[in-house]
Amino acid sequence: MSKMHQDRIASVAAKLALTDNDVIFITPGADLRYLTGYDALPLERLTCLAVRSSGQAWMIVPTLEKPSALAHGVPDMNIELLDWQETQDPYSLLLSVVGTSERPLVNNLMWVEKAFGLRGAFGKEVALAGKLLSDIREVKTAEEIVFLHEAGAAIDSVHSNMYKWLRPGRTEREVGKDIAEAILAAGHVTVDFVIVASGPNGASPHHELSDRIIQAGEPVVVDIGGTMASGYCSDCTRMYVCGEAPVEYVEHYAVLLAAQAAARSHARPGVTCESVDAAARDVLSSAGLGDQFIHRTGHGIGMETHEEPYIVTGNKSLLVPGHAFSIEPGFYFAGKFGARIEDIVTCTQDGILSANNNSRELVVL
Ligand code: ZN
Ligand code: ZN
Repeated sequence: MSKMHQDRIASVAAKLALTDNDVIFITPGADLRYLTGYDALPLERLTCLAVRSSGQAWMIVPTLEKPSALAHGVPDMNIELLDWQETQDPYSLLLSVVGTSERPLVNNLMWVEKAFGLRGAFGKEVALAGKLLSDIREVKTAEEIVFLHEAGAAIDSVHSNMYKWLRPGRTEREVGKDIAEAILAAGHVTVDFVIVASGPNGASPHHELSDRIIQAGEPVVVDIGGTMASGYCSDCTRMYVCGEAPVEYVEHYAVLLAAQAAARSHARPGVTCESVDAAARDVLSSAGLGDQFIHRTGHGIGMETHEEPYIVTGNKSLLVPGHAFSIEPGFYFAGKFGARIEDIVTCTQDGILSANNNSRELVVL
């Protein structure tokens, strides 16, 4: 593993050398885990990786976190490990080893407190490293693709068991609790989100579990995901109804199914991200459902559920083999109902492979 992480740090340094920035700082989170394998706790105490464009790298950790950093093999990756004691100033310690910087970069999700600390110590404005890092992270290796497909299979198995939990008379919260347990039982180490949106609640794409009692004949949006031990995430939406759905809903659903299929058959290397969005949106718009499709078609996925590439109008970047992203068009009628069909797909040499393979039809329970 340390060779893989060494290579990742080297590619950050190489990209950095092409910019007019000279050092990049990364605090705990998906960026740090991707580059080093160290899933460090995000604490008030500073843990920070620094990479110079020369390829030199340091990590500063609180003394009490040093055993954990050692256990993750940080020094084996050619990263010089430093620790700071409770009464020391970690920022000036970092400055003393890394040296001055003209234009430092910080990872986008660094806490403002830490970014201000670095700015104060180095006496320079800091800029965001988001694009530099996402350009590397968004193109998955064969191994990462395997991890994403494993995550997809795990969440598919949870959807396959929905009949055990979802039925009229139960509340969204009760059903959600059972689903959360099943997400862990299926091999995830964390439950990242559980959306069970019944009837009119389905019109809110990110509805939170409520005490609403599920009724017969109501469409229910179930959008669920977690993170596997590999660090990679799942995210899949299927639609359910206990009994018979309204006729109008069934008609709209047929259009949505066609829209999702159109985006999947369009997606391949060389097409723009926005054209994948358009492929789904055009089908919904021609059927008069364009105004009800109120979000982008998808988002990249990897060690975070939402990352580059975003499948949205205006994103003219081209898909390349190794991209992993969701295709999740939907329609939302306030006060009535909503629907979404979501798969995670990975871009191959000539098309896509779906990590989610359960039927996309409205599931009648
Ligand atoms: Zn999603
Ligand atoms: Zn989702």
